[in-house]
Amino acid sequence: MLKASRVPMPTRSAEERIRCFDEVALGYTPQLALEEASRCLGCKNAPCMSGCPVGVRIPDFIAKLKQGDADGAAAVIKGDNNLPAICGRVCPQENQCEKLCVRREKLGGSVAIGNLERFAADNATATSCARPEPCGLKVAIVGSGPASLSCAADLAKCGVEATIFEALHKAGGVLVYGIPEFRLPKALVQKEIDQIAALGVKIVKNVVIGKTLFIDELLEQYDAVFIGSGAGLPSFLGIEGENLNGVYSANEYLTRVNLMQAFKEDAVTPILLGKSVAVVGAGNVAMDSARTARRLGADVKLVYRRSRAEMPARAEEIEHAEEEGVEFVLLTNPVKILGEEGKVTGMRCVQMRLGEPDQSGRRRPVEVEGSEHDIACDEVIVALGTTPNPIIKQSMPSLETTKKGTIVADEWGRTSVKRVYAGGDAITGAATVILAMGAGKRAARAIIDDLCGKKD
Ligand code: FAD
Ligand code: SF4
Repeated sequence: MLKASRVPMPTRSAEERIRCFDEVALGYTPQLALEEASRCLGCKNAPCMSGCPVGVRIPDFIAKLKQGDADGAAAVIKGDNNLPAICGRVCPQENQCEKLCVRREKLGGSVAIGNLERFAADNATATSCARPEPCGLKVAIVGSGPASLSCAADLAKCGVEATIFEALHKAGGVLVYGIPEFRLPKALVQKEIDQIAALGVKIVKNVVIGKTLFIDELLEQYDAVFIGSGAGLPSFLGIEGENLNGVYSANEYLTRVNLMQAFKEDAVTPILLGKSVAVVGAGNVAMDSARTARRLGADVKLVYRRSRAEMPARAEEIEHAEEEGVEFVLLTNPVKILGEEGKVTGMRCVQMRLGEPDQSGRRRPVEVEGSEHDIACDEVIVALGTTPNPIIKQSMPSLETTKKGTIVADEWGRTSVKRVYAGGDAITGAATVILAMGAGKRAARAIIDDLCGKKD
């Protein structure tokens, strides 16, 4: 097995997938999972584990898979990770656990930990979840994304009554309104949310904290409040033409397609179905927008001011986008959105070159003089990142926030307000599912320690 290379994930063909929203990655068969699990060396010091923000016992769950025991594997994972089918699909394992796997360089490539996690979660049949005795504590949780779900699940496992308040009509945060079906099927997200609800977590939808109910009011009824409200406020380019009909933020575009099915003919709030779409940005959100537009029948150009090597999206998403026919227009920066009669007709862009590295070590894009040119398109999707929505801060001025609007909290999620905790994108700005989950778990631990007076 030492020479065996990593078992590739079976995927739907590019021709088939651009005609539907079905999941691209098909998952390992039991035979493939066994083959891949057998590549794990069961290292005693398990370097892979130190790359996992929630500390999943990786060699232990893979050992269960080697015995053909998916239930056992899922139980090991769920000890530390409340959303394994989700993480198995969307976590950037290549930069986390798999980056530290001892097989990475010379032994056929890292063990496909994410693919195996997904297999265990998808194939586990055991659904039992013991509800502990109530401990008498009550915690209110703002938002229902991965940070909140993780926090709620860990609290419930300790007997705390956890109630989630979600602004939207569906729970799951970005997992349901942002990440498209072809990467993360919504039925599967619902299944993992249902398992958390089965622990006794209550989910109250259509409640905007800071408008319908206030944190001060929650503090009167609950022992603590956790804020996991994410970073849902989109950034724009700040250039002329951004108010034209046919310019969307990626957040709005993906929410309308994923959550509101706005592309259907009978949709109450239909979305413009552009024939020629320009997506600005190169992160996961940009790739998701571009690939969604392809599935809705458009020719898609992805416009990015740096080169391919600097694209922040996962390598797999970049490859999938290319296979699906998304054209990358690199070293190009929009300076104006062009329009006629209020509608988008194109983008004026300039050519860029890469200059000296900036503070983050990435080479700074520099405009090439006299390089203005136009790109024709009838729809523009801006995917340039997001910041936290200011509603909560506005309704609670004593809650300390940074200039960027993120909530200030210590590593355990304690904020400037007593009994108020926060985690996930609300404190870091747009990040990842697993980091949000890790923050939710740490805050759950801190809440229990603080309220029960047994701090380490
Ligand atoms: P969110 O998931 O944003 O959830 C916050 C929730 O709080 C939302 O449901 C919101 O409606 C609710 N809320 C907000 N304000 C209020 C209020 N005042 N009252 C009540 N409810 C409120 N990460 C990865 O790891 N891998 C990926 O492949 C990946 N792809 C992504 C693709 C897209 C399109 C996007 C947008 C993000 C992606 N991310 C990815 C990032 C990841 O989804 C986020 O980092 C993660 O969801 C953050 O979790 P959270 O719980 O902090 O917030
Ligand atoms: Fe298995 Fe790789 Fe982790 Fe070693 S480092 S236990 S081979 S997954």
